[in-house]
Amino acid sequence: MPKPCPLSADELEAVAKEHGTPFQLYDEAGIEDQARGLIKAFAGSFPGFKQFYAVKALPNPAILRLLTRAGCGLDCSSASELFVADKLGVAPEDVMYTSNFTSKADLLTAARQGVVINLDDISLVEDLAGVCKGAGLPFPKLICFRFNPGLGRTDSETASNVLGGPDAKFGVPREDLLAAYSRAKALGATRFGLHMMTGSCVMSDDYWTETVSVLLQALAEVASGAGIAREDWAFINIGGGLGIPYRAGEPENDPSRLAKRLRGVMDAEAARLGLAGALPRLYMENGRYVTGPFGWLVARCHVVKRAFGQRYCGLDACMSNLMRPGMYGAYHHISVAGKPTPEDADDPAAEPLNVVGTLCENNDWFAKQRPLPASAGVGDLFVVHDSGAHSHSMGFQYNGKLRAPELLLRRRAGPGAPAVVQRVRERETIASLFAETSIPADLGAPLRLDTPAAATRAEARDGEAPTRKMFVWAALAAAGAAAAVATALAMTRARQTA
Ligand SMILES: *Cc1c(COP(=O)(O)O)cnc(C)c1O
Repeated sequence: MPKPCPLSADELEAVAKEHGTPFQLYDEAGIEDQARGLIKAFAGSFPGFKQFYAVKALPNPAILRLLTRAGCGLDCSSASELFVADKLGVAPEDVMYTSNFTSKADLLTAARQGVVINLDDISLVEDLAGVCKGAGLPFPKLICFRFNPGLGRTDSETASNVLGGPDAKFGVPREDLLAAYSRAKALGATRFGLHMMTGSCVMSDDYWTETVSVLLQALAEVASGAGIAREDWAFINIGGGLGIPYRAGEPENDPSRLAKRLRGVMDAEAARLGLAGALPRLYMENGRYVTGPFGWLVARCHVVKRAFGQRYCGLDACMSNLMRPGMYGAYHHISVAGKPTPEDADDPAAEPLNVVGTLCENNDWFAKQRPLPASAGVGDLFVVHDSGAHSHSMGFQYNGKLRAPELLLRRRAGPGAPAVVQRVRERETIASLFAETSIPADLGAPLRLDTPAAATRAEARDGEAPTRKMFVWAALAAAGAAAAVATALAMTRARQTA
């Protein structure tokens, strides 16, 4: 079941007035509790367990700081993600670098930073050795490989969430695995990890038990083939991919139950393979599970049209804010602020609506023929749920669309305490879209981009709202008092309480 938006319709209106629309809203308490809960559940069964948050899911530094404080490491897959991990001061052993078709420049960045490198192909062993040698660095003592066992699966409707198997571009195939470890060992590696991620958005426990069995089997083969002692295996990393319920009525994953099951499978497999005793640590690198349910894309409907017997609600957001529906056909729950969400198409208050964005592409749809409140229309705030992962971060600027600001709903001091919303990323500006372009001098004058940023933000605001970093309002604890919230709104500049 997707999480309800933690702000009431009036609170959302107040946020829209302050920050414009569209915006991404993230729930600090939800994210932190989810991360801590996951770690606690697994650490209970796997001493030394580590969760590395997959940075690409939501690479906002405020969120990453929140997560590292909650005990997560970071899983990076690009030089920019390594950069932010470094700037956040994350210890190198708490950073995994799992890239794909990696450049030598990026390998060097990772080696210099001293993070845990997870290689995706045997050829990268020589590349890494070469760049280390060139930079006067030793070959990393700890090295990991991503294994593609020839299987892949997902429980989501998105075929591209299958990340393993013969048609996936990821991972080292079985026939190269032994040689890869042997070569790394010959180059000076003394400790080893083994990684596998063959699916994303996985809802079944069986996927994970299979992953652990396949990994331990591969580890046993490599250990004996390459002569790697059991105590030199630092970890197995079963990847990210723990799914979330995008649809109403869909159950959530249960990490405690899963961890207990995996413990049983790991012990049984280890005994069967003669590995019992010094078992490697268990690592994971979930993105979606940790932040996905705690993000909401909020956009205003500004055009309604009927055409060919269908009703369209046009939002001021588009697929540059959330491209999963357009790119994958993925489902995201949608609600309309202040209007009850119909149970199904038979609900008399429901009407099948197309919810679309402003982009000049016909896959710029958030929902097709979705039963939504028949009264939904111009002026309403639409909330697209589960935008806390792979949403803002997948944004792009095609058609000159500007990426939305990211707002953090701070942990409330207690029940009924005021809600505080703080902007943790500015809205992009039109000027910034062109800031890195240039016109050859013989083609005439350069663009004048000295327009004040506020004038090029192209945000929708209801009236004049001064630019403030944050505001506080008195949240009324009493249910049904929502209307009073707006009047209790106290737009005050408040000190950051982080
Ligand atoms: C994207 C990615 C993840 C996170 O996937 P989720 O489905 O968001 O958990 C983890 N590891 C790697 C290597 C990835 O590329």
